Amino acid sequence: SPSLRLDRLLANLGYGSRREIGLLAKAGLVVLDGAPLRDASQRIAATPDLSERMVVDGDPLDPPPGLALMMNKPLGVTCSHKEAGPLVYGLLPERWRRRDPALSTIGRLDKETSGLLLLTDDGPFLHKVISPKSKVAKRYRVALDRPLKGDEVMVLGSGSMLLEGEDKPLLPVEMEVEDETHVVVTLHEGRYHQVRRMFAALGNHVTALHRDRIGGLTLPADLEAGAYRILTKGDVAALF
Ligand code: URA
Repeated sequence: SPSLRLDRLLANLGYGSRREIGLLAKAGLVVLDGAPLRDASQRIAATPDLSERMVVDGDPLDPPPGLALMMNKPLGVTCSHKEAGPLVYGLLPERWRRRDPALSTIGRLDKETSGLLLLTDDGPFLHKVISPKSKVAKRYRVALDRPLKGDEVMVLGSGSMLLEGEDKPLLPVEMEVEDETHVVVTLHEGRYHQVRRMFAALGNHVTALHRDRIGGLTLPADLEAGAYRILTKGDVAALF
């Protein structure tokens, strides 16, 4: 882990300006292993366990850089600053929006899609998840407006399906049928609005879309809509 000045470390975690952090330290409100660190210019190693050892103004230090989260994205929030509406980042602690490196979503879900969304401040981890080389599949539960016609499993699985306006066929998509208006699809790539556009191309219409799995990582049943939690080592291992 890189070592950096205490004031820089805390400023990068959104605790305030370096001047403000200097004052916090002077006041004895930054405590490491039980002892106040009064000099904010001293260097600290930003080890992953630092949150268990450091207390800032009475609370455990926020997770140091290298943070990765899963969220159960609710409907009505967006993953992109370019879209209208509240952002997923608004569901995280206020201070986390001032982190440097910043948190970003690993891929995106539409405003009207719910379910498993990953976020991280770790660029290499983000790229590893989204890289086609990693072959991380994504699974969606889909509700349809009209009953299936019967050819959908075959067409989606063919590896030759084209989306409107594109000339590169889709990779084969797996589809399980639950009933005539509910299916589960697994994608091995992620094109813009892919699930909605696939079913539009099949003459149907998606009325509800929920992602419940990325790689081998399933959205936990007890993670409520809008809630998030930090990925464990086991979660990360399940992804790949
Ligand atoms: N496909 C979509 O159409 N929307 C999503 O949010 C994800 C996959």
